[in-house]
Amino acid sequence: MNPELQEAWDDFKKSRKEIKYPLTSTAIKKLRKKLSILSFNNEQLAIAILNQSSECGYRGLFPLNKQNQEMYEAAERARRKRETIQCQYCFLNITEATKQRHESNECTMAPRPDPVRAQGMIDELMMKMGKN
Ligand SMILES: [Zn+2]
Repeated sequence: MNPELQEAWDDFKKSRKEIKYPLTSTAIKKLRKKLSILSFNNEQLAIAILNQSSECGYRGLFPLNKQNQEMYEAAERARRKRETIQCQYCFLNITEATKQRHESNECTMAPRPDPVRAQGMIDELMMKMGKN
């Protein structure tokens, strides 16, 4: 298991003990199933759901409340921006955050609109419109 997810799960177990509802083996089985459903098997979302219950001293697992959902989404957006992806044109490793700059300025393989040709197409379109 992802160490972060393991830690969140351990914290939840600890928190259940602290509120005097220690997890039974049946509860563990049921809650793990519920967690996979609530999180759509997304590890980051599962971690946020577990942390929400630990922080609030909940006995069960629930969909994220509005505030936690917003925090989760912001963290996910930031994480995705740092993720390394490959440029679809030159296959260089870039990140989501630098993708646009790379494709429009730095990439040697990305197709760029030809300004002369683009102007020609505009002129042609204007002429057609004028005729009608
Ligand atoms: Zn490129």
